[in-house]
Amino acid sequence: FLFSATAIGRRDHNITGVVLLLKDITQLRELERLKSEFVMAASHELRTPLTSISMSIDLLLEHASQFLPEKEMDLLQAAHDEVHRMKIMVHDLLDLSKIETGRIELEFEYVPVATLFEHARGIFKGQVSMKEVSLTVDNVENLPLVQADTNKIVWVLSNLVSNALRYVEEGGHIRLSAERVSNHIHISVQDDGTGIPPEYQTRIFQKFVRVNTQEIGRTGLGLAICKEIVRAHGGTIWVESDQGKGSVFTFTVPVAERGERRRTTI
Ligand code: ADP
Repeated sequence: FLFSATAIGRRDHNITGVVLLLKDITQLRELERLKSEFVMAASHELRTPLTSISMSIDLLLEHASQFLPEKEMDLLQAAHDEVHRMKIMVHDLLDLSKIETGRIELEFEYVPVATLFEHARGIFKGQVSMKEVSLTVDNVENLPLVQADTNKIVWVLSNLVSNALRYVEEGGHIRLSAERVSNHIHISVQDDGTGIPPEYQTRIFQKFVRVNTQEIGRTGLGLAICKEIVRAHGGTIWVESDQGKGSVFTFTVPVAERGERRRTTI
């Protein structure tokens, strides 16, 4: 059920009543579930033919330059880029629909934030030095452990760092930090890149939303997946950004409580 309440008032601002609305959304939820099931089946089926198309194009690109004119080679390269984009999209759609239909099992463990940061730093070591970006990691040794599925939260962190790397200039700066707020840890990825226009700051967490739709190889699904993973941990994710100055993406994860480690299906 979806529950909402609206106050009704007179012009003198005195409240005279309240409208309570209780809406049965069982059918809506069922429709959403069926939609995710369909997306999951379709993306699963698309993977095999896409892989063979991609392999054929790769082979042609490797050997056809001896007998194909430059224009045809350009067409082949364009086909290669589009198939690559489709492969990423199908992979991301499959991941997202698996989360939405509860096919992914989360394995919670007690983990230090420093470990999560170390994983993320390791993944981007090469790219960071190639782009001459500095990636700094705050000292988080004094924070309590968090209750999280390490792989999934590292995936979220990596996705945020990968985006930050894409939108910072050469010589730019990315910072990973964390702080305790009540019984959650707020984990932030800050960059001094292009920033995000205000009208996009909430929308970018929706599926397929991209600020610049011309970007090659992007799907607009990364942040939607991050949001689902964080939600499954009982947390939230948001961005604060100044156009031209940079962005700070923050998500929350619960502090580890003593007792049973949870095992949840999302
Ligand atoms: P994609 O996988 O296509 O990058 P995301 O869901 O990860 O999609 O991001 C959606 C959009 O949000 C991106 O296309 C980009 O416009 C914007 N965005 C995300 N992170 C940043 C960032 N750190 N700085 C500027 N823009 C960003």
